[in-house]
Amino acid sequence: MPTFEAARSMILASVSPLGVERVDLLSALGRVVAEDVAAPWDMPFYDNSAMDGFAVRAADCRAGGSLRVTGYIPAGGTATPAIGPGCAVRIMTGAPVPPGGDAVVPVEETEQRGDAVLLNEKVSPRQHIRYRGEDVRCGDTVVRAGTVIHPPEISMLASFGKAIVPVYRRARVAVLSTGDELIELGEQPAGGKIINSNALSLAAALREIGAEPVILGIARDSRESHREKMAEGLKADALITSAGVSAGDRDLVRDCLAEIGVDQLFWKVDIKPGGPTAFGMKEGKPVFSLPGNPVSTMITFEEFVRPGILKMMGHRGVIKPYVKATLRDEVRKKPGKVHFLRVKIEVENGVNWATTAGDQNTGILGTMLRANGIAVLQKDKTVFSRGEEVAVHLLRSDVGMLEE
Ligand code: AMP
Ligand code: MG
Repeated sequence: MPTFEAARSMILASVSPLGVERVDLLSALGRVVAEDVAAPWDMPFYDNSAMDGFAVRAADCRAGGSLRVTGYIPAGGTATPAIGPGCAVRIMTGAPVPPGGDAVVPVEETEQRGDAVLLNEKVSPRQHIRYRGEDVRCGDTVVRAGTVIHPPEISMLASFGKAIVPVYRRARVAVLSTGDELIELGEQPAGGKIINSNALSLAAALREIGAEPVILGIARDSRESHREKMAEGLKADALITSAGVSAGDRDLVRDCLAEIGVDQLFWKVDIKPGGPTAFGMKEGKPVFSLPGNPVSTMITFEEFVRPGILKMMGHRGVIKPYVKATLRDEVRKKPGKVHFLRVKIEVENGVNWATTAGDQNTGILGTMLRANGIAVLQKDKTVFSRGEEVAVHLLRSDVGMLEE
């Protein structure tokens, strides 16, 4: 039985990035750039004013002196003609600095007297000018392959006219639920039936990381039904199954995967919940077999599937960093397994406090909703004292402080 980390490493060693496609710039948000992108020109493209004021020749200026205003250049204007000796040109932010100009005097540091301008302060050469190429030089790499596109990357790429961007493909991931007890959303539960909620939570989790879920529906507890649906699932880039992976006599997932040629890399991990998780590969495609209990399904998605699918979509930093949090109360567990404790993290005076989010029984779905993190408790430790720091994977980015 692999350890938690070894199991995750096996998954990451088995999968590789899918192909590359070219998408329009805004659609590239959240995607990973597949090739270095170089600047096709200098930025700024021309020397321009950083302030509304007057373009001047610094050598002609002294505090208390005055210059003759001979022209006006608005933003979007052209920088002609040159500034003559003892002259100034009124200029707006972003407008090109005319030839001869080597400083801009902000309007706030001047007084206008007819066609003359009085300088109230000393003027240094180069002040308030943004010089050509000072931000980016033509040919520089502005966005490296492997970068996740966020608004700053969008801004940079847009500034260079990059309307189409090469990014790694989204993974299409098939989601298969298994079990005779399942009915679909919209049907009325009665006598031993439960709604196939895992299909929805897995599809949602896939969407959250930018993958495309393909919901296959329910495989019934027969080998034919399992094999047929699994074969269909393997047309996608990856397959996730839920339930039917423990040791019950109706747990057909692993057998049926083997029958259709999926090589099992592991079954069972030293974790709780999620112990029966299995992982296999067929012709370069990963198959994640998650336990069926909705809490276990979501936690094993977070800890195993998420990093694997992110890697397939070109992401490099696929393992979430741990955040340190201080336990408000003592937590005890048995040795031998890593425990995923659903916790609520609250920030007080710069300290992350972790409280248990409620009953940790995997049957309690409500605890998952009250949690915003998973504390990963080491395998062989049994007592985690009040005030001790634990390592937490944050689950939600939409938590913030309320204004009083
Ligand atoms: P199993 O792994 O087949 O023993 O299932 C474990 C538990 O998860 C059982 O209580 C199932 O009813 C439940 N379960 C299995 N599949 C789903 C599903 N698709 N949606 C919600 N609960 C499920
Ligand atoms: Mg079952």
